[in-house]
Amino acid sequence: MKIRSKFPAQETTIFSVMSALANEYGAINLSQGFPNFEPDAELIALVHDAMKKGFNQYAPMPGHKGLRDILASKHQRSSGQSWDPDKEITVTAGATQAIFTAISSIVRPGEEVMYFEPAYDCYRPAIELTGATPVPIALHSPEFTIDWDEVAQKITPQLRMIIVNTPSNPGCYTWSANDWDHLENLVAGKDIVILSDEVYEHLVYDPEGHISVLSREKLKDQCMAAFSFGKNFHMTGWKLGYLVASAALTEEFRKLHQYIVFSVHHPSQQGIAKYLEEPLHYEALAGFYREKYERFLHACSSSRFRFLPSAGSYFVLADYSDISDLDDRAFAEWLTREEGVACIPLSPFYSDPPTDQRLVRFCFAKTDDLLDKAGKLLSAV
Ligand code: PMP
Ligand code: GLN
Repeated sequence: MKIRSKFPAQETTIFSVMSALANEYGAINLSQGFPNFEPDAELIALVHDAMKKGFNQYAPMPGHKGLRDILASKHQRSSGQSWDPDKEITVTAGATQAIFTAISSIVRPGEEVMYFEPAYDCYRPAIELTGATPVPIALHSPEFTIDWDEVAQKITPQLRMIIVNTPSNPGCYTWSANDWDHLENLVAGKDIVILSDEVYEHLVYDPEGHISVLSREKLKDQCMAAFSFGKNFHMTGWKLGYLVASAALTEEFRKLHQYIVFSVHHPSQQGIAKYLEEPLHYEALAGFYREKYERFLHACSSSRFRFLPSAGSYFVLADYSDISDLDDRAFAEWLTREEGVACIPLSPFYSDPPTDQRLVRFCFAKTDDLLDKAGKLLSAV
């Protein structure tokens, strides 16, 4: 049989490519974003307990009710708006599935979806699969400021969705109140859904803090927000997240969700719900990662990399133009192979990469000894 590829141009993600290269060369892997330390033993014990207590069959389609109740209170506290656990919260197989399902359930062939580049890599393929047209807005380092006139010009009657990512991966910037004001004004009264990817909501170093789409009263009926437990509790391999959206949008989302996964890993949902009875688990995160961020910068202080300030996420961008003229992909591969530290180049996150940008991304969700070791190697480059 001859297979006609539906995605002939789609390559393996840069995260898988760089992690494989790190393994091949035995390099310290600061590329793909995942911690090299274990989740809290208490969380593991709670999930184990749920398995022993018999939570081994399907969870309800929208997710374990106890977990949705806790998430509703959490987001009510942080956003100042109420979210109905039964009609507005759905537990998903990670933020990736929430995002894919959100796009697929709302956007039709021939419509348009806007997003900001450098953009997390799962948006574009999901848009293309629906038969919609991606409308990227390129942002440039070091500020990654949004040109709101350009956004206004690109809003057409076909535009059905705008994807926001704050804190941004890989941009490491956050959306300000001013950004949200602009967006609100531009979409007021239009049938445009705002899908906000907020998986790093607790990993924020900007003094203005995290501003969630859920806190924007004017967007309440128009928004969908994706979250990930993997980022917050150091267990990216469990692939658990959730979507918060208005009741009408959630209804559409669930029509598809019930057939894509139906429901997700039940004992984990039970365990996480128990674990979240203690809200301090969330509160400690920003301080925990701020220390790692500072530790990594300190370890690299004598290096020739110029680090851009990270406003959020567990990543930091570094300009390597004082070290090399190679393009970013070649540089990342060289650094992994020859210098023993793997990173992520930025160009794969643009549809038309800026030719003058010399940036790579490092992940600092690592144990202190590994950050110190990586810092030593990077300082010698
Ligand atoms: N969005 C962003 C911005 C991410 O960085 C990631 C994962 N690192 C995801 C979505 C996917 O999250 P999950 O692993 O929960 O699917
Ligand atoms: N989100 C992770 C990162 O930014 C990667 C997840 C993946 O490999 N798809 O590195």
